[in-house]
Amino acid sequence: MEHISKLPNVETTIFSIMSGLAKKHNAVNLSQGFPDFGSDQKLIDLVSKAMNSGYNQYAPMSGNLDLRNAIAHKIESLYNSSYHPEHEITITAGATQAISTILNTFIKPHDEVIVFKPAYDSYEPGIVLNGGKSIAIQLQAPDFRIDWNEVEGKVNGQTKMIIINTPHNPTGTVMSKHDMLQLQNITKGTNIIVLSDEVYEHMIYDGEQHQSICLFPDLKSRSFLVASFCKTFHNTGWRIGYCCASKPLMDMFMQVHQFSVFCVHHPTQKGIADYMQDPKHYLKLSNFYQKKRDLFLNLIKDSRFKFKPSKGTYFQVLDYSEITQENDVDFAKRLTIESGLASIPLSVFNENKLDNKVLRFCFAKKDDTLKRAAEILNTI
Ligand code: GLN
Repeated sequence: MEHISKLPNVETTIFSIMSGLAKKHNAVNLSQGFPDFGSDQKLIDLVSKAMNSGYNQYAPMSGNLDLRNAIAHKIESLYNSSYHPEHEITITAGATQAISTILNTFIKPHDEVIVFKPAYDSYEPGIVLNGGKSIAIQLQAPDFRIDWNEVEGKVNGQTKMIIINTPHNPTGTVMSKHDMLQLQNITKGTNIIVLSDEVYEHMIYDGEQHQSICLFPDLKSRSFLVASFCKTFHNTGWRIGYCCASKPLMDMFMQVHQFSVFCVHHPTQKGIADYMQDPKHYLKLSNFYQKKRDLFLNLIKDSRFKFKPSKGTYFQVLDYSEITQENDVDFAKRLTIESGLASIPLSVFNENKLDNKVLRFCFAKKDDTLKRAAEILNTI
């Protein structure tokens, strides 16, 4: 018997490769994006309490209603925008499941999906699995700004979806209000769906404002807002996120969601719902991570790496072009094996593996870990 998978050219995700290499060589791991510190004991207690209080059977298909109410309330208070908790919000197994289910629901063979590169590595496989075509727009280092004329030039009758991500993984850039208005203009009067990946919404620095899709009424009506609790509450292993959309879009999403996961881990949902009653738990995040970014950048300011401070996410990209002309994947591996520090090479997220000599470092780490990493970077 011979079989060919539906993704024959896809390699193992770089996150598993680099974390595996870091483990093997006992390197400081700033590659895969996860915190090396624990989450708030209060949250763990609330999830345990939910288990002990009987939240152990299926949640409703869209998720625990207390959690959907808490999300609706958060969005209302932060963005003055409303999603109906009963019809327009669904809890998912991490943002990744929301993204995959959105693509499975809407992308048909030959549909085109505009993707900005460097792009998070789950977008394109999800498009290809459904027979769609990814139309890549490569953003250029060091600013990674979107040229909206280029976007306009790629939009045609086949364009089904545009995927945006702000704050942006892996570059740490954020979209401006002007960017969002341009996107709103380009999509106005079309049938295009926008998938807005906002999982780093609560990590935004230097006074920048997060430009959520829901702030722009015309965009909101055609969009899925995708978000995550894993990043926000320091529990990437819990796999819990959500998406919001207008009822007609969400009704179609549910047709697929019900047969892929039905619903996600119930006690975690209830615990998070209770924890969210105090908005401090997510509002303090920008300040918390900005301090970590500043600590890290201050420690490496005299190194041979060049950088522009990250404006959002918990990632910082560093340009090593003054150190070596080595390919970024080779350099990232050598840095892990020989110097004991793991990072993520950006080329894996780029069109045709474009190599700008840039590596991504995750600063969601204890200060001590960041100090150890900086010591290594200063010797390179
Ligand atoms: N989102 C994480 C990152 O960008 C990784 C997720 C994963 O490992 N699949 O590093």
